[in-house]
Amino acid sequence: MKISSNFDGGNIKVLSIDSMDDIQLEIRKDTLSDFSQWFYFRMQGAAGYPCSIKILNAGDTFEPDGWKDYNAVASYDRLNWFRVPTSFNGQVLSIEHKPEFNSVFYAYFTPFSYEQHLDMVHSAQISPLCVLESLGDTVQERDIDLLTIGDPGDDKRKIWLIARQHPGETMASWFMEGFISRLLDESDAVSRKLLQKAVFYLIPNINVDGSMLGNLRVNAAGRNLNREWANPSKSESPEVYHVLHKMEETGVDLNLDIHGDESLPYNFISSIQGIPAFNERLKTLQDKFLSRWIEVNPDFQIEHGYKKDEPGKANLNICSKQIGQKFNCLSLTVEMPFKDNKNLPYPATGWSPERSAIYGESVLNVILSIVDDLR
Ligand code: ZN
Repeated sequence: MKISSNFDGGNIKVLSIDSMDDIQLEIRKDTLSDFSQWFYFRMQGAAGYPCSIKILNAGDTFEPDGWKDYNAVASYDRLNWFRVPTSFNGQVLSIEHKPEFNSVFYAYFTPFSYEQHLDMVHSAQISPLCVLESLGDTVQERDIDLLTIGDPGDDKRKIWLIARQHPGETMASWFMEGFISRLLDESDAVSRKLLQKAVFYLIPNINVDGSMLGNLRVNAAGRNLNREWANPSKSESPEVYHVLHKMEETGVDLNLDIHGDESLPYNFISSIQGIPAFNERLKTLQDKFLSRWIEVNPDFQIEHGYKKDEPGKANLNICSKQIGQKFNCLSLTVEMPFKDNKNLPYPATGWSPERSAIYGESVLNVILSIVDDLR
C-alpha cells in the first residue's frame, strides 16, 4: 500500500497507512500561508479492499462547512471522475471506498493540470479568431497566458474573463474550457454575433504556480491574488500586476471572475452593488444579466449567495469590485459549487467538469443579451 502526491496539483501528507480501514492523512497548508482545503493524491495496492481514508485535519481547514454533505471525487483512468461516499464528523473527513483497480486517484474536485491548460490555450490559438500571448511571468517564472478572441477595435466592447485566482477551484478551468470552445465555434450564431460586437480577453489560469503547488487559495509567494487588486506587487503578486496593466491598456466593459465556493451548494454571483461607483446604469445591467442567466441555464439562481455589501463598503482589493470601480463597468464574481446544485442535484457526479463547461457556454447567451448595453 502506497500513497503519493508528488505530481502537478498534488497535496496530501501521510500520517499512517498501517491498516486499510484506518488510513490517516492530513491536508498540507498552502505555500507560505495558513489556508488549506485542496487535496489530490494517488493510492496504490488496495484493489478489492474496503478502505477508510481519514483526513484528520479537515476540521482545521479554510472552510470546514465545505465538508458537510460533500463527497470526494475519484478516478482510475484520470478522465472519468466519480463521487465516493464521504462523511465529516466536525473534525475528520472519512472517504469510504473499495478500489476496483490497483491505482486510484482521489481529489477535492476534478483536477485540471498545467498540461491541460497548455493544451487548451494552444489548440485555441489554431483558430483564426484567436491570438495567444503571455503577459509576463508568475512568481516561479511561468507564463501568464492571455487569449484574445475577436478583432480589437474602438467600436468593440471589451470583455474580460479571469479564472483560477484561487487555484484549488478547478471548476473555473472547466468553465473556461466550455466558454472558449463555444466562442471559437464558427457554426454557433451566438458566438459569431458576439464577435461582431465584442473582443474577448481571457485569462484561463492566472495562478499557474498555485495550481501546480496544490494550493487552495494562494500563489507561490503566499499571496491570495483576489485580495491584491487595489495595489498589486510586481514581485509578490505579478500575476495580478500584469493582468491589471493589460486591462488598463485595453479598457474593460464587462469583467467576469470565475470561482468555486466550498460551502454553498448553488451557483451564484457576488455583485458590485457595494462599490462607490454603483449606479442606476450598473444596477439595470446587473439585473438584466442575472435574470437572463436564470432563463438560459437553470443551474444559476439568485436566492442563495454571500451577504450583500452595504453601499460603498465593498472590499476594493477584490478583483470584481476593483475592476467595477476602476472601469465603471459590470464586474461579477461567478461562484460554482464544489458539492452540487441543491436545486437540481445529480448525485452520480455532483457538480462536475461537464456541468461547469455547459455553464460556461451558457453565459455567452447572457452576454449577447446585454452586449449592446455595455459601456
Ligand atoms: Zn475563489
